[in-house]
Amino acid sequence: MIIRIDEIQTSPSDFELELHPWQFDLQNDGFVLHSSTQVKVRVSRVGLDIEVYGYIPAELELECCRCLESKVFPVQKYFYVIYRDAKWMETREEVELEADDLLVSYYSEDTLNLTEVIREQLILAIPIQVFCKTDCAGLCPHCGQNLNFRRCSCREDKIDPRLAVLAKLLEN
Ligand SMILES: [Zn+2]
Ligand SMILES: [Zn+2]
Repeated sequence: MIIRIDEIQTSPSDFELELHPWQFDLQNDGFVLHSSTQVKVRVSRVGLDIEVYGYIPAELELECCRCLESKVFPVQKYFYVIYRDAKWMETREEVELEADDLLVSYYSEDTLNLTEVIREQLILAIPIQVFCKTDCAGLCPHCGQNLNFRRCSCREDKIDPRLAVLAKLLEN
């Protein structure tokens, strides 16, 4: 996910960068990449800055928040980021004038490393709540049985009525 700065010109050029599952893990990134994929970026030089438009199609393996089974979710993420020469990083006042939603990153030396930006964008693409299916029955709160596969023999009336109300709400 590295582009050489001297390959970047004022006229936009397109690059394809390969992402591999081994580059991400559940513990650090909160997701697993299901299969390798191609990130498309259009890169151009604007004054001292480098502008990057990107598109990431990916299949993420995520855990269902009810039953914790992992499932593959296709996501698509577009992003726009400006890379600034790290030499200008000290000019803080200028940085503070930037709009909040403008994604600014820095490059130093002679390469542009998109790894961190792509990682952040994929994390942003993860839905807040992930369900394996809309009517996922979840886990039994008593024995942990995945109720999508089979019912357990725990008695329903053991459920604290306050939790039962909550469970109803979550179902909707
Ligand atoms: Zn589920
Ligand atoms: Zn049970």
